Amino acid sequence: MRRHDPRDNPGTVLAAVTFGLLAFLAPAPAVPASAPAGLVTITAQPVVLKSSGALRGDPTVSLTFDDGPDPIWTPRVLEVLRRNAAVATFCVVGEQARKHPELLREIVDSGMRLCNHTRTHPADVAAAPEPERREEIVGARAELRALVDAPVVYFRAPGGRFSPAVLELAAAQGMQPLGWSVDLRDWEQPGRLQILTTLERALRPGAVILMHDGGGGTRAQTVESLELMLPWLRESGYRFTFPTP
Ligand SMILES: [Zn+2]
Repeated sequence: MRRHDPRDNPGTVLAAVTFGLLAFLAPAPAVPASAPAGLVTITAQPVVLKSSGALRGDPTVSLTFDDGPDPIWTPRVLEVLRRNAAVATFCVVGEQARKHPELLREIVDSGMRLCNHTRTHPADVAAAPEPERREEIVGARAELRALVDAPVVYFRAPGGRFSPAVLELAAAQGMQPLGWSVDLRDWEQPGRLQILTTLERALRPGAVILMHDGGGGTRAQTVESLELMLPWLRESGYRFTFPTP
């Protein structure tokens, strides 16, 4: 009898993915997450593919969360990260941060890093007139620094709208431009199995993974996916780290 090919049935593929990831939910030994002591060396190029240790045969993955902080979802994301001894970078929007400064502190106190994701999340910060662009990038950083006593290590342009001027301005202000190499498109709420399938397909050592803890709408699928992916990543040999050029 011909062995059933799971590719014949998408449901079977999804079930296999689920089973494979669920298998890693058994209690794993607690391994402290890596948290480099120093800050990154700033360059005027967006980090997209490399993160600490990626080139030394030491598979790393950098988790990033955009568009928060959000009073419902940011604490839930942080709880899952802490429970799995994982670190992540939070690309926060200034307007959101001003409404929830306590969440900025929780992010930092949980051992995570902050990334400036502009003040108002404009559709195209690169196309904005210079004063506006400066306000979105430099003004937002100053605002974040006033809200929380912690370094703002990175800058990520909404939608990845980097231009030479944006890159140079961020770098000149001491923020490493931060891109991504894996977009899980979790904000579209495609279902956690689709999110995990996207991860499995695109994951490479040194990946910078884009997810969302804010931006409106539920992030339940993001949290559910995290619950599965963090133990699985660790069991697959990945170490959680912060992006670095
Ligand atoms: Zn965004």
